[in-house]
Amino acid sequence: MARIELNRLAHSYKAHPSKPSDFALKEMTHTWEHGGAYALLGPSGCGKTTLLNIISGLVTPSQGAVLFDGRDVTRLPTEKRNIAQVFQFPVIYDTMTVAQNLAFPLKNRGVDRATIDRRIAEVSRMLGLEREMNRPARGLTADMKQKISLGRGLVRADVGAILFDEPLTVIDPHMKWLLRAQLKRVHEESDVTMIYVTHDQTEALTFADKVVVMYDGEVVQLGTPQELFERPEHTFVGYFIGSPGMNVLPARIEGDRAHVGAAAIPLGAGYAPLGAAVKSEIGIRPEFLRLAAGTDGFSVALKRVEDIGRHKILRCELDGRPLAAIAPEAAEIPADGIRLSADPAHVHVYADGHRVPAAGR
Ligand code: ADP
Ligand code: MG
Repeated sequence: MARIELNRLAHSYKAHPSKPSDFALKEMTHTWEHGGAYALLGPSGCGKTTLLNIISGLVTPSQGAVLFDGRDVTRLPTEKRNIAQVFQFPVIYDTMTVAQNLAFPLKNRGVDRATIDRRIAEVSRMLGLEREMNRPARGLTADMKQKISLGRGLVRADVGAILFDEPLTVIDPHMKWLLRAQLKRVHEESDVTMIYVTHDQTEALTFADKVVVMYDGEVVQLGTPQELFERPEHTFVGYFIGSPGMNVLPARIEGDRAHVGAAAIPLGAGYAPLGAAVKSEIGIRPEFLRLAAGTDGFSVALKRVEDIGRHKILRCELDGRPLAAIAPEAAEIPADGIRLSADPAHVHVYADGHRVPAAGR
């Protein structure tokens, strides 16, 4: 129900930021469509919570604007933003019962008793809290308390967006899976925009239709799981998504070849010279490397073969760097060194971590 626009948004917790590393969020402009299910994925400390708190109004950004459905809400207090937020750890009232906790966000807004009763019955059923409704929240286990927190986030039917900040951290693994499926269902049955922060790629890929990958204060890619796999816009996306992740190798780019040690790897297209000052690398997913016959491809040192049932993972080295390739289960692996070739359309070029488009594209 809400389209969220971030317009030249940036944030520093320092009073006088002077260098890029002083910014918890570097300048970003993005639109998150109404009704989308977004997963916000990235390593610890990359700025996920900061971004969520700016969207909800808990943090005022040092630069730029946040718009909901075209309306500037940058300076609007949290309670006026029509947004629900669920945190990593339980935020509940210990002295209230479970039912009172769930009813609180509605009661606070003057919702009538019949609606409150109906909503808390629905939410408690969804989270498996029916039998605990009259118990005081105090004394419940951490994962029960976190379910109440989730319930408080889900109970309002009128919010434009729900923000989840690693909400399942304290929940046990089996329950995690069930709750994630419930959240997905809530999303499918409503048109609420959901932003779900996690540092777990499986959690992100199963929840979201769009994944937003953050790294070091920047959104490095916003795309479908398929796009993240096929065309990682940043080396971090390549090795964070997928298992094993994308191979990233320092390379010298010359026209339509990438030179890695003695190997000249064909690229799908030509590239303009990258300049000596940038860190130039290529990225190839293990899925797009195959065993080459005769003198095709390039020679690698085979270090280890991991047979994982569906296929084999070949752990190799090229120019002293690790390189993984995936081979079919039935592949015959020669003992005396192997050659690999890469599908040129899937060899990506990166400058200082960011993907470089081919010349003329
Ligand atoms: P994430 O949620 O991805 O782990 P955060 O948004 O919590 O990342 O943090 C991003 C950066 O901002 C980190 O370097 C962190 O140390 C810093 N930071 C977060 N909150 C504060 C704060 N209240 N005051 C100062 N620095 C903070
Ligand atoms: Mg966080």
